[in-house]
Amino acid sequence: MKIAVLKEQADGERRVAATPETVRKLVALGATLAVEAGAGEAASFSDDDYAGAGAVVGSSADTMAGAGIVLAVQGPDPASLAGLADGAWLVGGLDPFGSRDRVDAYAAAGWEALAMDLMPRITRAQSMDILSSQSNLSGYKAVLDAAAEYGRAFPMMMTAAGTVSAARVFVMGVGVAGLQAIATARRLGAQVSATDVRSATREQILSLGAKPVFVENVAGIEGEGSGGYAGEMSPEYRAAQAELVSGHLAKQDVVITTALIPGRAAPRLISDAQLASMRPGSVVVDLAVEQGGNVEGAVAGQVVTRHGVRIVGHRNVPSRLAADASALFARNLYNFLSAFWDKDAARPVLDAEIGDAIRLTRGGQVVNQRLLA
Ligand code: NAD
Repeated sequence: MKIAVLKEQADGERRVAATPETVRKLVALGATLAVEAGAGEAASFSDDDYAGAGAVVGSSADTMAGAGIVLAVQGPDPASLAGLADGAWLVGGLDPFGSRDRVDAYAAAGWEALAMDLMPRITRAQSMDILSSQSNLSGYKAVLDAAAEYGRAFPMMMTAAGTVSAARVFVMGVGVAGLQAIATARRLGAQVSATDVRSATREQILSLGAKPVFVENVAGIEGEGSGGYAGEMSPEYRAAQAELVSGHLAKQDVVITTALIPGRAAPRLISDAQLASMRPGSVVVDLAVEQGGNVEGAVAGQVVTRHGVRIVGHRNVPSRLAADASALFARNLYNFLSAFWDKDAARPVLDAEIGDAIRLTRGGQVVNQRLLA
């Protein structure tokens, strides 16, 4: 089985889907690895590192020729894969809801597209979960990005010239990214509070030494959807949450928003009026900016100022930590391929539970139930 690793094509994408470490492990499984020249450069992995790990490094066309599996961080342009064999697998973060045209093109070409971003949240698939591994780094980086924009210090400092007070940091959405944001802001010495619609997060917030900010006694408070994800809230709940959050926001220096609802636009958590209530010089980082944004006025790919508040809307935050993000992403892909590797077939063979969840296309058709629904 030949596995190809292409250089990422999306603007600003610095990550790579295999590292020399995972190349070595895939070769040990019995695969042949081909890596496009320069694929790892932006993540600090050289062509020599890949060659040393056992890969053949070459042009895009040579890398793809005869490949049975293509590994990618983001879905490659279908035109760039012309010539790839019928039935070949495309494995990566394929963004099936946001890139439907591309999925249709993969189907038409006869490839089997496997979206790692649809990996089910079951215990045995945790080590294959690219959303978790990348969100964790995003939560960390969001706090550093906020600190870089904030014209004050995070920790309390008692100096001969007087005392600097600790920054008040509020994290909205306490999933994987939010938990890491809380932990990182605490490490920097901030006073941290956090909120989520899932009441199960209250204990997690407390266990990280932060203060939970929760609406009480309102119908629809339990926002647990399926698979640990958030569901949609009742209108009563949303109104009560908005009121509580308004009062709290006005007292914050830094806000990190991470709220997502799978398959839908990100919920709006901060309005323009709420921004106007914040102190000038405050910073808001919107990690959901590419999914529609949690913050009114946030612009994907930009840092903008409204009412004196800096709103940070970086795209593709994991790519800003390209080496670590690639290392974790690549291990997620390796864990996936090795878990299903069939020695006799000399290739991975998926079971129904995971295969049906992540398979987008097969035999010329779009086959994923979530896309057909
Ligand atoms: P996510 O990225 O889908 O969303 C981020 C957070 O935003 C979630 O906690 C969500 O509840 C919250 N949110 C949504 N709407 C909101 C609103 N209006 N206001 C405030 N918060 C809102 O979440 P995630 O990081 O993928 O994590 C979701 C859960 O799944 C977590 O409990 C996590 O530990 C769990 N998880 C399980 C597995 C596994 O078992 N394999 C893997 C990853 C995550």
